Amino acid sequence: MPDFTQLSSLVKHAAREVGFDLSGIAPVHDAPELNYFPEWIAAGHAGEMKYMEARDDAGNLKRASLRNAVPWARSVIVCALNYNTAQPYSTQVNDSQRGWISRYAWGEDYHDTVMRRLRVIEQRLHEACREREAPALQTRCYVDTGPLVERVYAKYAGVGWIGKNTCILNQKLGSWLFLGVILTSLELEPDLPAPDRCGTCTRCIDACPTDALLAPYKLDANLCIAYLTIEKRGAIPEEIRDGIGRHVFGCDICQDVCPWNRKAPGTSAAEFQPREGLVNPALDWLAEMPAEEFREKFRGSPVRRTKHAGLRRNAVIAMGNSGDRRFLPSLERLSEDEDSVVAESAKWAKAKLETSADARARTPAPTSTCP
Ligand code: SF4
Ligand code: SF4
Repeated sequence: MPDFTQLSSLVKHAAREVGFDLSGIAPVHDAPELNYFPEWIAAGHAGEMKYMEARDDAGNLKRASLRNAVPWARSVIVCALNYNTAQPYSTQVNDSQRGWISRYAWGEDYHDTVMRRLRVIEQRLHEACREREAPALQTRCYVDTGPLVERVYAKYAGVGWIGKNTCILNQKLGSWLFLGVILTSLELEPDLPAPDRCGTCTRCIDACPTDALLAPYKLDANLCIAYLTIEKRGAIPEEIRDGIGRHVFGCDICQDVCPWNRKAPGTSAAEFQPREGLVNPALDWLAEMPAEEFREKFRGSPVRRTKHAGLRRNAVIAMGNSGDRRFLPSLERLSEDEDSVVAESAKWAKAKLETSADARARTPAPTSTCP
């Protein structure tokens, strides 16, 4: 029989060696945090993210119970990689000509960088089990795509607690963390769950411009800028466009305002350093970017997910929200764009800029009552 304490140490040692900032082991059990999941799906809060609704043969939601989805899994190894870089937060920048791409998407695609590291740990575990003549070991690595809610297992692996903004937060590193998991058939020694340190704070809920955080720990993806600018295809509902502000890919607000991110350290992973032009990108550059340039600029970048038309749609909406009339000629051109969603969004943005300018012109200048 292998020594599971020894194997647990080996896993954590390997995780450190490949560059993960944190790692831990969670047992496979039906955590109370997962009880909300079927209700959340039934309420439609996952929007169009159909993969969240994947079910097993018996019709159970896979993500609601790892025990059902992967019956052989006994432990979940959770690894976290810090992606923070020494750049300002979105809440510290105010430039009407520029948009915001979420911090996690400035560098290389984390799916590849995290998976590469997970594979090394997985291989070491297999080698160690072979050396110890352990019974056949089963493992599976996932970055975002597994039939589990990673952050719940991250909590039980001691990596961090689930904040009221629904992100994983670590006391020392903050919340700029990518998660990767390895499911294993071994009963490794579990870590202790991380205690919740949100306390009475509600900054993330108060700061969310679209009220997507319906209550502490409860997000409606349909209202979340990250979902709308990345996952949502087609037109963004008009009633929510104002709230999107200058965001063109994702949103960091509920993390930027979090006190635990005030002193979040930077990453040592070179892959997450920003590509040129992606921190505070020029909105007209994105809106008028040719398809070829999009392919070149975002090869191997998470931004590819929103696709060429999606990024341009988002940039055009941000131009409409900018209050900056210098965008009018560009929006005039984009109103005739061959992509109907971009064209419609540009018409909306142009009308918004014109209306706000008209309103300003009609408002009489305040008269001074000073002597
Ligand atoms: S990512 Fe933005 S829109 Fe979504 S919950 Fe956080 S602050 Fe709100
Ligand atoms: S802003 Fe406050 S409530 Fe929100 S996640 Fe951070 S500590 Fe928790």
